[in-house]
Amino acid sequence: MIETNCDLCGSDQHSLLHEVEVTLDNPRYYRYAKHVPNSDKMTGKFSIVRCNNCSLVFTNPRFEAEELALVYSSDKILGGNWKNFWYLFDAKQPDSFSKDGKGKVKSYSTELYQWKFDIIEQHTSSEKGPLQLLDIGCGDGKFVYDALQRGYEATGIDLSPDRVAKGKSIYGLDDRQIRNINVDDFSPDEKFDIIVMWDVIEHVESPAALLKKLRRISHEKTMVFLLTMSLDSMTYRRFGKEWNYINPPQHLFYFSHETMGKMLDKVGFDLVAVEMDDSKETGCHQFIARVIIGRINRFFLSLYTKEKPLRGLFKFLQGSISDERMKERAENLYPGIYLGRYHDNFVFVAKPKHNPGGQN
Ligand SMILES: [Zn+2]
Repeated sequence: MIETNCDLCGSDQHSLLHEVEVTLDNPRYYRYAKHVPNSDKMTGKFSIVRCNNCSLVFTNPRFEAEELALVYSSDKILGGNWKNFWYLFDAKQPDSFSKDGKGKVKSYSTELYQWKFDIIEQHTSSEKGPLQLLDIGCGDGKFVYDALQRGYEATGIDLSPDRVAKGKSIYGLDDRQIRNINVDDFSPDEKFDIIVMWDVIEHVESPAALLKKLRRISHEKTMVFLLTMSLDSMTYRRFGKEWNYINPPQHLFYFSHETMGKMLDKVGFDLVAVEMDDSKETGCHQFIARVIIGRINRFFLSLYTKEKPLRGLFKFLQGSISDERMKERAENLYPGIYLGRYHDNFVFVAKPKHNPGGQN
């Protein structure tokens, strides 16, 4: 673990905001910590601090680069496949997301990422032909695949060779469409019209350094879309330390609308809009339903991962699904105190600052 200065202003003066005890007994951390090599590293006391000078919130101390690489080498570490408890007992539902990506994509649904494309299309124009889209931290390339189907000239990059290989095998992406490279590795003449980072910026060692590098692969009309959770969300204000995104081994930065604006400004981008995530439902009943489903998910997660005798009661629902498989399935249940994205993630839309005569 290393102590770091503020990534936004460089100050070494900060105050403790939350102290978080990460244990395997806490269902919120179970899935992330359980299957990671050296999982003892992922547990223990973590501190989240706020910079006294600029208010940036970050995990400090945090893992060193090699430790982070170790953490991300696990296939289990990244979320995104959260299920509701009724999925548990449906034998027909595939478990493929927990396997190593055998077989090609069978069905393609445009619904999953529709809200992301709605936001992108609101801020870009494809009148002059297909747009060059770059997905940084693309994982296995599901979004890249979707973008290609929609007519974008899409490329994804990811630091995990396993995920890139998986993308090639599942989605049939070629060497140009998905690459195991760093942002630095693009040639100077490769520029993109659209750069997206979905749930990436909160994980990186230095958001400032990464965002700065985007200038080199941008032209003056490039639009950047950053999805991350915000401390200005109603859910953080309501839940504070219990907020589902408080996950200090993984989430190194917790931006607010203000600190994201300052960060972009510092590295040569203007924040032009902040868009909502896919939380279309704002009603109180939705919120309550999510809380209840989250609780039931936790119940089943604990039931199947801790081998509780009470399991026998649900045996009749299990049908042909083996106990072993039930445990694996239970790990994919969303253990939050609310379910899904609910006004906690935002898409920050940015474009390079106009800099006449200067370097781009
Ligand atoms: Zn600062």
